[in-house]
Amino acid sequence: MRIILLGPPGAGKGTQATRVADHLGVPKVASGDLFRDHLQQETELGQLADSYMKKGVLVPDSITIRMVMEWISKEATREGFLLDGFPRTLNQATVLDKRLGEEAIDRVLYVNVSQDELVRRLAGRVVCNNCNRTYHKISNPPPEDGVCADCEGDLYQRGDDKPDAVAKRLEVFFNQTVPLVNYYSIAGVLREVDGEQSIKMVGQAFIEALT
Ligand code: ADP
Ligand code: ADP
Ligand code: ZN
Repeated sequence: MRIILLGPPGAGKGTQATRVADHLGVPKVASGDLFRDHLQQETELGQLADSYMKKGVLVPDSITIRMVMEWISKEATREGFLLDGFPRTLNQATVLDKRLGEEAIDRVLYVNVSQDELVRRLAGRVVCNNCNRTYHKISNPPPEDGVCADCEGDLYQRGDDKPDAVAKRLEVFFNQTVPLVNYYSIAGVLREVDGEQSIKMVGQAFIEALT
């Protein structure tokens, strides 16, 4: 299966991605994590991407598409994959479709969450600097403060989860990414999931939306 997780920043895509990918037995990738990994490794691509991410705007399509297409070229993705956070523009979606050809996207899960809740979720989000797992200071805290339960990595708050960048990212989502809802709806692969339930319930809704 070839799956896309679509939704605003803070909707819970990353939180559910591992579970969904494991359920399907496919590899997953988050475009934002790829950029942050590049930055940590101090590559040129990482520094370039960071200059956009800091401001809360999208990284230009030319850079993003090349990076994700490279990931899709891996042998492990031949039988299926899960994309978290890509595509985010109509151009990214059409390039992806062209690239996949007959082996098209099977399902797009669109996670819907109200704006007030998104702001609460992003304000309290902390991320593992080693494995990228996300926690929430209040709704989804790690067992040990500041430490990842999976890998003992350090938890940090992303620079773009601070209020100024958050407002910009939500605006960017509504302007540039929301048109994809219509695009995939017309293609007949869109399923909407209510993201404003407990993490467990959202997880169940995701799995149900795949059948
Ligand atoms: P969130 O999980 O909160 O939605 P991401 O980690 O997916 O955030 O994205 C963080 C930033 O990385 C975005 O604000 C954007 O600058 C960049 N980014 C991630 N995915 C894409 C994409 N598909 N196209 C362009 N920029 C992207
Ligand atoms: P996205 O990848 O869509 O940007 P995340 O998965 O990183 O979103 O989740 C954003 C924040 O909200 C994290 O702090 C996460 O722990 C928390 N969160 C995720 N799902 C839920 C939920 N169903 N209820 C409450 N908090 C949640
Ligand atoms: Zn970790």
